[in-house]
Amino acid sequence: MTSQKNREIRLKKRPHGMPSAADFELVETPIPTAGQGQVLVRNIFMSVDPYMRGRMVDRESYTPPFQIGETLSGGAVGQVVESKNDRFKKGDYVSNFAGWREWFVTEGGDLQKVDPAVAPLSAYLGTFGMPGLTAYAGLLKVGELKEGERVFVSGAAGAVGAVVAQIAKAKGCYVVGSAGATDKCDWLLKEAGVDKVIHYKSCGDLSKAVRDAFPQGIDVYFDNVGGEHLNAALANMRMNGRIPVCGMIAQYNATELPPGPSNIINVIPMRIMIKGFIVSDWFNLMPEFIRDMSGWAKAGKLKWKETVVDGIENAPKAFIGLFHGENTGKMLVRVGPDKAV
Ligand code: NDP
Repeated sequence: MTSQKNREIRLKKRPHGMPSAADFELVETPIPTAGQGQVLVRNIFMSVDPYMRGRMVDRESYTPPFQIGETLSGGAVGQVVESKNDRFKKGDYVSNFAGWREWFVTEGGDLQKVDPAVAPLSAYLGTFGMPGLTAYAGLLKVGELKEGERVFVSGAAGAVGAVVAQIAKAKGCYVVGSAGATDKCDWLLKEAGVDKVIHYKSCGDLSKAVRDAFPQGIDVYFDNVGGEHLNAALANMRMNGRIPVCGMIAQYNATELPPGPSNIINVIPMRIMIKGFIVSDWFNLMPEFIRDMSGWAKAGKLKWKETVVDGIENAPKAFIGLFHGENTGKMLVRVGPDKAV
């Protein structure tokens, strides 16, 4: 897995529909050296995330599109191997946004020191990182969750969904999660402690399954999926229900825009609030997020799983696997040894 050269993944062509290995290219380059004021970092874990699919499309969005031939980027954690910058010393662990490559140099403005004594390094890309903050901000701030409410979360065994489910449990809520595999449903019930699960691939009529799980209706539906799940939730919301819209992975690979929810009219009589959000608008919550998450973890109220794929050459496979449900918890790629120095 290690090499004397840097290896990185570039976008070879724009995926049409479901991405394939042929859309990516593994390239070897010399390991860069740190100039004055710079640090050399070796990545240990990199993150693959569903939102990256949107950046592979040539359109302006909240993040600019990847360019053909460009090395992809995304969250990663690594270790400083050489430092000519006063802010960092050799051996520091840092989170960064230079994933999809093994080594890189930087002036350091994009690095955040992380402490492996507080949480395992990999967790800074999942439960204690961007996906965890997405869950925290989306549920508590956008969804305005109140103690004891009835919460439905889709993609519940994923990086964001599993945190949503457990924060809601920690707030004394009744929680139902949906997932697409039996082992994921078992983990949600036994480890994450949700009240009920819906195996959406085998439950038959999803709206009916949601109704059976919520005879009194849903206060907050945390949407990671869109499509049929959103329809099923809209059919079962309580008065003044809230729907924080986090993601719509069911349509990220669609080649044409799918029809909208047929029952959107329900928002009127039921006074439902639907609000999309982007985690980067909530980075200011980081200190309170880390404080609360550490507290829940210490109290045994927060568990997480990770799916780790080895080797940067397998990063495209890991990314594509997100759309086939191959991960439980955060999908990660191990791109370097645990200790680089
Ligand atoms: P996950 O860890 O949940 O991984 C993706 C999971 O989605 C898969 O394991 C699979 O689980 C499920 N899935 C894949 N395809 C479908 C489908 N067609 N229908 C239903 N489920 C599907 O990813 P994340 O936790 O990182 O992200 C979850 C959502 O949150 C995504 O939509 C993502 O884009 C969004 N997001 C939004 C952010 C924001 O700022 N708004 C920030 C971070 C994430 P299963 O086996 O259960 O089907």
